[in-house]
Amino acid sequence: MGDRMINIFANEDIYSREVRKLLRRKLEQSGFSVPKQFTPEAELVVSIGGDGALLRTLHEYDFPPIPFLGINTGHLGFFQEIHPDELDEFIFLYKQGRYDIQNLKTVKADVLESGKGYMYKGLNEITIKADNPSTIHLNISIGNSFIERFSGDGILVCTPAGSTAYNYSLGGSIVDPRLSILQITPIAPMNTTAYRSFTSSVVLPEELSVTVHPELRKGSGFLVIADGMEHRHGCIDKMVLGFSETEVNLLRFEHYDFWTKVKSKFL
Ligand code: NAP
Ligand code: MN
Repeated sequence: MGDRMINIFANEDIYSREVRKLLRRKLEQSGFSVPKQFTPEAELVVSIGGDGALLRTLHEYDFPPIPFLGINTGHLGFFQEIHPDELDEFIFLYKQGRYDIQNLKTVKADVLESGKGYMYKGLNEITIKADNPSTIHLNISIGNSFIERFSGDGILVCTPAGSTAYNYSLGGSIVDPRLSILQITPIAPMNTTAYRSFTSSVVLPEELSVTVHPELRKGSGFLVIADGMEHRHGCIDKMVLGFSETEVNLLRFEHYDFWTKVKSKFL
């Protein structure tokens, strides 16, 4: 079957659904087919919505290697490459192969709870927080060195692609995604005579991992949040964070420039 298939996902709002219908018609007129369900044989995934929609599609299909294209009908659209009024240009350029693929690194966390292992991945970040209002204490090692007993709301470990999301709101640095570094960013760190924690982000090279030994919380537990998707844990014996092997491939066109995007979204 020489069929060129493209998966399309859209947010539930009326506008995103309209864009989906229009795109589907245009793609079919250009000789592509649009399967009803996610098809791994497809050559492209189009996600219509905001960054959140793209993140949810990625997680739902477990980070497929197929390139993704985001069409922005959301609020910010940092990952999203085109606007809904650019569908014809997109199809024209795509058919001629006039695009680049931006490879983005992902972060992963291996969580051990009562002898059971869990693995989470994130394109933006993985966060560990309390599941109730009281402070958490996290013993943090970088590589093989014990660094600090963190006290506060929690920490996140973000990729360069995620540096412009939650990390940026917390005062973390914006990182060019051509760099392979992870950033550990504290969330409301406490610095008193009772508790001592780093108050700024720290930046790590790709070969180092971060090990977290959370302190037991009586009657409560932890939330591990990957790209905004939350997972509840009781006690966590150990959590190891680092880069994952998985990359996310985003379609980018000629005009794409990371710093132009940063400026247009933040300044
Ligand atoms: P959300 O709470 O609806 O949206 C948070 C905002 O972050 C949205 O405007 C979203 O863009 C934007 N965003 C997502 N990824 C981004 C990126 N890589 N660079 C710049 N902005 C980005 O949640 P969501 O839409 O499902 O997105 C999940 C992300 O929200 C998480 O990964 C986390 O980084 C972020 N978050 C931020 C805060 C905060 O800043 N205080 C708190 C919690 C979570 P769209 O409008 O295009 O969706
Ligand atoms: Mn959103």
